[in-house]
Amino acid sequence: MILIVGAGVAGVTLARYLNDNDIPFRIFEQQTKYKSQGFGLTLREDTCKKLLPLLGLEQQDFRTRVAVDRKQGLSSPFLVNITTGERFGAGSFKAGYATQDFRSNRERLRGIILGEVKVEYGHRLKSFASTSSGVEVLFENGLKVKGDILVAADGVHSSIREKLLPQCVPQDWNGVMINGSCRFSLDEWNQKLEPSIGELAVYPGFGEQMVLACTIYDANWDPVSGYVDISWGYSRRRRGDNDPLFVSFADRSFNKSHVAEALWKELEVLPKQLVEPFKTIHSDLPIRRDPTIHHRLISLLIPEKDLLEKLNEGKVVFIGDAVHDWSNHAGTAANAAIQDALALGEALAKGKKIEHYYDERYPEWLRNYEKNGEDFEALHRPMTEWRSMLDNQETNAVRGGLKL
Ligand SMILES: Cc1cc2nc3c(=O)[nH]c(=O)nc-3n(C[C@H](O)[C@H](O)[C@H](O)COP(=O)(O)OP(=O)(O)OC[C@H]3O[C@@H](n4cnc5c(N)ncnc54)[C@H](O)[C@@H]3O)c2cc1C
Repeated sequence: MILIVGAGVAGVTLARYLNDNDIPFRIFEQQTKYKSQGFGLTLREDTCKKLLPLLGLEQQDFRTRVAVDRKQGLSSPFLVNITTGERFGAGSFKAGYATQDFRSNRERLRGIILGEVKVEYGHRLKSFASTSSGVEVLFENGLKVKGDILVAADGVHSSIREKLLPQCVPQDWNGVMINGSCRFSLDEWNQKLEPSIGELAVYPGFGEQMVLACTIYDANWDPVSGYVDISWGYSRRRRGDNDPLFVSFADRSFNKSHVAEALWKELEVLPKQLVEPFKTIHSDLPIRRDPTIHHRLISLLIPEKDLLEKLNEGKVVFIGDAVHDWSNHAGTAANAAIQDALALGEALAKGKKIEHYYDERYPEWLRNYEKNGEDFEALHRPMTEWRSMLDNQETNAVRGGLKL
């Protein structure tokens, strides 16, 4: 019996794999029901290739079922200068970026992965202990269960990691990231946003050490009741030691659903001459005060040796953000979580040693971990650097006879 704690994307993917391969499991989640986080998730081509055989779906069908815009969820291949509209090719920033990458709606994606799998909601893990034959897990509501292996899929704040590996603590990055969400009618979409965004579902822009992102989270194209839900993002480098928007992982008082007043003041001084769609979405933010989520920007990777020691001692295996986290600008952590679950599922189904799972996945975790902070700095450059990169791009395009 495999016991999975945490029904995020990592936990549910593993549960589905085990379910379809007739391996006994139970999956527990602390929340009483699934709560949507209100922002999308870029699925990479390599992740889809591995996931689709499990779901029994063709790529095209899968895309239209889960894409944020219920169409193709096309990610932008460029970043846009927020005041001039100039475009810069984005591929160079994203490890593993490929043209088939697309933006999915988390709720719909999770639903399709779950299929018939039953999650046991309202079960918050309290403690666990090794026994001679496996593990015993106790939940806060008093339920006690026994299993062969405990899978820690309990996210970046994993209490299983905290207990087994208290020395493995996420590190802060020097950045700030806040997302908000708002709804536009189809008329507003057609008149103000569609002319610039077009068929894209993700539209990122850059300014002075900052990124403004516009992403469709959900859309309904019905001519009468239709709407487009946009998730906007504001991220920038940290400003000195007293930055009012910077949050450290160690700050236990931090409440991600509340942002400091300083955010709205900062947004008031965004450049006045923003191009669309940033003008419509970002200019009125201080007045609209949309619901927001404030993110901690962190990196985490548990050393492989520690993982194997704990597995041998206690029969606990980690997947997803519980074992690695690279903050969300990079668009890789959930993809890794899904691929972890598939690799662990396969190891269990084929009766391989679980060490094989770590051997397979660790090199990719390490690559992402090493590249992540660099990517954040690169995306949040000073404007002088952007200027010379744009000029170089233009020169190369002219030489190559390309139109920008
Ligand atoms: C704004 C934003 C945008 C992002 N965009 C992308 C993207 O485009 N591409 C990408 O690849 N990644 C992206 N990410 C990262 C991605 O969201 C995470 O990597 C992914 O959700 C991790 O999945 P997980 O299942 O490991 O953890 P989680 O989703 O955190 O799930 C863990 C689950 O465990 C439960 N749990 C925790 N403790 C307990 C307990 N004690 N008992 C029982 N249950 C417990 C939690 O309630 C939760 O449901 C983004 C993140 C953010 C914040």
